[in-house]
Amino acid sequence: MNKDLFLQSAPILQQIQESGYEAYYVGGSVRDYLMGRPIHDIDITTSAAPEEIEAIFDHTIPIGKEHGTINVVYNHENYEVTTFRAEGEYKDHRRPSEVRFVRDLYQDVERRDFTINAIAMDEHFEIKDFFNGYNDIKNKVIKTVGNAEERFDEDALRILRGLRFKSQLQFQIDPATYQAMADKMEDTAFLSIERIIVELRKLLEGVDAPLVYPLLNQLEFFKFVPFFKAFNTAAIKVKEPIKFELLIALLLFKEPSEVALSQLKISNDSKKAIHQFINIFEALPNIKTKKELRVFVYDYGISVLSYILDMSNTLSANGLELSHPLIFNHETLKEIDQNLIIHQRSDMMVNGKDILEALDLKGGPWLKEVLRKIECAIINQEVPNKKSEIVNWVKTHVEI
Ligand code: ATP
Ligand code: MG
Repeated sequence: MNKDLFLQSAPILQQIQESGYEAYYVGGSVRDYLMGRPIHDIDITTSAAPEEIEAIFDHTIPIGKEHGTINVVYNHENYEVTTFRAEGEYKDHRRPSEVRFVRDLYQDVERRDFTINAIAMDEHFEIKDFFNGYNDIKNKVIKTVGNAEERFDEDALRILRGLRFKSQLQFQIDPATYQAMADKMEDTAFLSIERIIVELRKLLEGVDAPLVYPLLNQLEFFKFVPFFKAFNTAAIKVKEPIKFELLIALLLFKEPSEVALSQLKISNDSKKAIHQFINIFEALPNIKTKKELRVFVYDYGISVLSYILDMSNTLSANGLELSHPLIFNHETLKEIDQNLIIHQRSDMMVNGKDILEALDLKGGPWLKEVLRKIECAIINQEVPNKKSEIVNWVKTHVEI
């Protein structure tokens, strides 16, 4: 049930209150609860200082103590408890240079980005809603707490966050907030690429990504973002929620470029996923038979290929050629995957050394090719996955 996480963590709020302080749920969890959406994590805000929280609970972890955040471990779960804060001066349109702990809830919610994110709620599900956030939730409106220009001037990430919430929640953006987004967009140039990508990922995976992606272009957001600024992002059509890596792969596929992916400061796994998507785009038009599809499933795995199939609207809108639906469809993928004889190189009953010994030859570039041929032959059941049979097959079928 939607209330579970709150009920589980209610004793934390009560313990803080019994020690003489205030404590509330706040932020995304309260918003999502009021909207009837699933709640994934809970943030607790309190008048108690970090040291006071550490004194109240037996098991705490000071994960962000200087910013006021202490992890309270309760019933083997971690809960983030953050002291009420007011933010000091902002520099360079990004996070404040200092935080100040305060004892007043109003000051804490006042520095939050949007009214829908500035609602506090106690353990009896009573809300403290100084900025009419609940009304905005009911009216499906994203509106800054206070003057939009000032709030975006303080921290330009809020512009992207607002668009991210629009995409996830399918809300409208209040006209004054939208105007300020347009006016302040260039300040996003001051943000770190890491913070941008966290929000951009969520935006692209939101239900309304097909609506919000064109807005990003209209607002000229990408003009201020490393890597993206080198591409004609408006030429990409987003027809459904899309993974960040797939969008990057589309950009690079449509417009091969020397611009280094390293500018995005993403993980190696993420880079690998991008390159894998590009390889798939290149291979797709050549998958004309079930036999070719079988090797394709072996090479890339069913989950990424199912995802590619799910994204076929977006891919075809961007001019990518998918193989014929009679060949490339979910049923065939599943059937092929379930009947694959081997799933990876190491499942083969021979390795390079076995082949060299059996043929009494010295290694060379030819070996790689032969191993690939064996692999494909096993996958297509042209040879059983048995050492002696494979060696015979190589001797009779492969020219070396
Ligand atoms: P999600 O459900 O995706 O976690 P969220 O609203 O909880 O959404 P978080 O990034 O987890 O978003 O931030 C928690 C809360 O902190 C927000 O709801 C908001 O009140 C506040 N907040 C986060 N980032 C900012 C910011 N840049 N400026 C002002 N307030 C912020
Ligand atoms: Mg959150």
